[in-house]
Amino acid sequence: MNSLSRRHFLKLIGTSTALAATPTWLKAQTAASGRVVIVGGGFAGATAAKYLRHWSGGNVAVTLVDANPAHVSCILSNLALNGSLGLSQITFNYEALKQKYGVTVEAGQAVGAANGQLHLQDGRTLAYDRLILAPGIDFAPVPGLDIRRIPHAWQAGPQTTLLKNQLRDMPPGGVFVLTIPLAPYRCPPGPYERACLVADYLKRNKPGSKVIVLDANPKIMAEEHTFTKAFYQTHAGIIEYHPNVLLNEVDSTNRTAITSQGNFSASVLNVLPPQKAGKIVSDLGLTGGGNWAPVDPLTYESTVAKGIHIIGDSQGTSQPKSGHIANSEAKVCADAILRAFAGELPDPAPTTNSACYSPITAKTASWLTAVFAYDPETRAMKLVPEAFGEAPEATEENYEKMFDWASNLFAETFA
Ligand SMILES: Cc1cc2nc3c(=O)[nH]c(=O)nc-3n(C[C@H](O)[C@H](O)[C@H](O)COP(=O)(O)OP(=O)(O)OC[C@H]3O[C@@H](n4cnc5c(N)ncnc54)[C@H](O)[C@@H]3O)c2cc1C
Repeated sequence: MNSLSRRHFLKLIGTSTALAATPTWLKAQTAASGRVVIVGGGFAGATAAKYLRHWSGGNVAVTLVDANPAHVSCILSNLALNGSLGLSQITFNYEALKQKYGVTVEAGQAVGAANGQLHLQDGRTLAYDRLILAPGIDFAPVPGLDIRRIPHAWQAGPQTTLLKNQLRDMPPGGVFVLTIPLAPYRCPPGPYERACLVADYLKRNKPGSKVIVLDANPKIMAEEHTFTKAFYQTHAGIIEYHPNVLLNEVDSTNRTAITSQGNFSASVLNVLPPQKAGKIVSDLGLTGGGNWAPVDPLTYESTVAKGIHIIGDSQGTSQPKSGHIANSEAKVCADAILRAFAGELPDPAPTTNSACYSPITAKTASWLTAVFAYDPETRAMKLVPEAFGEAPEATEENYEKMFDWASNLFAETFA
């Protein structure tokens, strides 16, 4: 990113004040009051906190609990790997939620909930009428994997820095191996975007290096046309793509992926472990025996436990696991909770939207957008085919627009 666009990006983050309008039904309501506790201050939880306060005119008491004092965004975090962005540029604290919206923010690790009380690890309890769980993802164990040596960098922060430093220290002519788990996982295009950005970085900084992508899935899972072109044309000779490769084990000492198609040794090994709902969700028995939490998409209320709502990556609808749609789900959920407090039924026809920009090189990007609408027959969110779109090609213009899109989403969530 050149310095002009970086300045532009920072300015947008600092000044954008995007706010979704108050639903018209709510303007007439005064009865929406109650207490909501939210676990997780990422794209889902922070948005829910903000809009519960905003739309209720401050009548609903909202407490947001996060294990960390600030959230490091996974969105754009692949750009920290090649030095285009610093992590500080994608780190968001909760001051605006506190100061502008009156959200109570508690730093702490949520470990349990029962009888209208959320339990924190340090012994504190928080009383709620409705609980929203938005803890993102957890990882299934991979035999031999030590993430202190083999980073996933699929939760942004120290893991991103570790992977960045390993790439910086990689010798010319080295091999970067990336393993992708079976879908569904967080951010369908994300792994392919990472392969492209690393290939682009190695081309410029570590001549003779290779990127080997070991995908457990039978094919590229998002923007197939774009990434096929990127792998076989833009980064031809650098990226090698292998579908249907199941990871069995990792030799973390020797940086080797032991797979259904043989052993792959790497100078830098980046294992994306199989993913599931955040730990608090499974600890509370809300996954119904699966990996993700079943919910009613009209309200995001758990189908297993009344009064607990699950939004963002942990929920188990057919919607993709993206920050943009987590923001959308949070608004549907906040609206449904306010209606419930006011004795109203939920909106019977919610829609949600997902969008992703994927950098393909340090100067070009592609994009993808999808809309989902509630289908009363199946009681599920369904892709609206006519509203689906993908960039025909990766361009420099898309790369610049990516920062406008991200700035708006960051402001929609945290500002
Ligand atoms: C490399 C990469 C690129 C991506 N690019 C895009 C993109 O271009 N567009 C897009 O829309 N999405 C993108 N995503 C996906 C997006 O980041 C996730 O879908 C999104 O972060 C999910 O939001 P969430 O609120 O569910 O979880 P998170 O954002 O992970 O937030 C969860 C929060 O919960 C907190 N937490 C968890 N458990 C507890 C607990 N027990 N107690 C207290 N706090 C807890 C965590 O500290 C964290 O702050 C990308 C992801 C990656 C990895």
